[in-house]
Amino acid sequence: MEDLKKFFIDGKWIIPNSTNIFPVIDPSNEKIFAEIILGNDKDVEAAVYAAKKAFNIFSSFSKGDRLKLLENLLSVMEKRFEDLAKSMTKEMGAPIKFSRNSQADSGIGHLKGFIESLKKQSEREVISNGDILVREPIGVCALITPWNWPINQITLKVIPALAVGCTCILKPSEHTPLSAKIFSEIIEEAGYPPGVFNLINGDGPTVGTLLSKHKDVDMVSFTGSTRAGVLVSKNAADSVKRVTLELGGKSPNLVFSDCNLEERVNESVLECFSNSGQSCDAPTRLIVERKCYNEVLKIAENAAKNQKVDDPHKDGDHIGPLFDQIQFDRVQNMIQLGINEGAKLLIGGLGKPDGFDKGWYVKPTIFYDVHNKMQIAREEIFGPVLVIIPFEDEKEAIEIANDTPYGLASYLQTGDTERAERVASKLRAGSVHINGGSLNYGSPFGGYKQSGNGREGGDLGLEDFQEFKTLHF
Ligand code: NAD
Repeated sequence: MEDLKKFFIDGKWIIPNSTNIFPVIDPSNEKIFAEIILGNDKDVEAAVYAAKKAFNIFSSFSKGDRLKLLENLLSVMEKRFEDLAKSMTKEMGAPIKFSRNSQADSGIGHLKGFIESLKKQSEREVISNGDILVREPIGVCALITPWNWPINQITLKVIPALAVGCTCILKPSEHTPLSAKIFSEIIEEAGYPPGVFNLINGDGPTVGTLLSKHKDVDMVSFTGSTRAGVLVSKNAADSVKRVTLELGGKSPNLVFSDCNLEERVNESVLECFSNSGQSCDAPTRLIVERKCYNEVLKIAENAAKNQKVDDPHKDGDHIGPLFDQIQFDRVQNMIQLGINEGAKLLIGGLGKPDGFDKGWYVKPTIFYDVHNKMQIAREEIFGPVLVIIPFEDEKEAIEIANDTPYGLASYLQTGDTERAERVASKLRAGSVHINGGSLNYGSPFGGYKQSGNGREGGDLGLEDFQEFKTLHF
């Protein structure tokens, strides 16, 4: 059994004050493979104290010194790439090829993006009226991350915080502590001064709440469910700290009959199923022009038939299990709800795929003739479940797309470039992927409406962690 019980505080791996043990489970076989400690108030105090003390020193590091540390970090992270990939396969069931090409790759990609942004950012500049604008690190940052893209989320927060001279306390998801431990070892080896980066495990209601409320924490950057994001904001309100939130989504994917249907629909279905549907920006609502609706159903059914489900430890293009029992039950309940609501099943449905008794595997599932008011079209399901909704014209397509409390991502399939620009300008979401265009590292990522606020990645991702000071001479 792996021992993950220590926290990394003030540059040392220490035994926590808390003795509250929590099991970590491999989703492919439901076996406990590690134990962590869920921290308590004393552990939080130690981590915040270390970060506060270190801020006095680290905030005065020059940009050159911080860039050098980031370059060290990049070379150590490249060396530990395979460890990171394997850890995420083990702790959250991402298939190993996907872990390498997407999950672990995102860490390196974001890091390179931030290095480029920091190089070109001016920390002191004369603005148009002659005053001087100075960018400074905001202070001690609490960074709270989810389990579904562990290293992606950790690097989108820790790297910009350290890049601009902040110090931080990382509280990763209690379900994915293995990749977080390796990441902490990478930071240690890169040579950051003690206390600049601190790792503490814990659950949301205890450690998450304590960090959100703490008077010596200047900023909380949170990624997770909208439910928990609301609580973080409320808990942070009394101390008026900055809160940035990356929350849930129910992203629309508009398919117009003038696109390359075979290619675009096939890819759209696979994109929805990717990471077993456990991505905040997954295109989970396929909104299809009536003219090509029947053809799209055939292509989508075929794509889902070809989507293999298998053991994440095996190499291949399959999807793995869901990440835990709660998630499995939730997805089953949502499929049942879809059936009860009168949506029609195109493929998939309740139960595990044949041959999988152990592990939280589910069948890739597609519902059609879905109405956007149905719960399966409104709530984040977080499994490989796609809903297909017909539309009559462009106006209705945009209305359906925007009829959601979320606004994280949106997707658009059309062969008409004027239409692409016109529709994209009407979509209330932080990104629009047109004909399969994917997010490049270094671009900002974040949501409108209840998908959050703030932007992660690249130039804007750095600014989230900075204060702006004006000098008037
Ligand atoms: P979650 O909200 O349950 O937990 C996320 C993190 O918050 C964990 O570290 C958890 O311990 C902590 N937490 C829980 N309650 C808290 C509280 N009251 N105060 C402070 N911290 C608390 O979410 P999850 O199940 O780990 O992740 C899935 C969710 O994350 C989905 O809704 C998904 O859409 C969202 N997500 C969003 C993005 C994005 O960039 N927008 C990216 C990935 C995941």
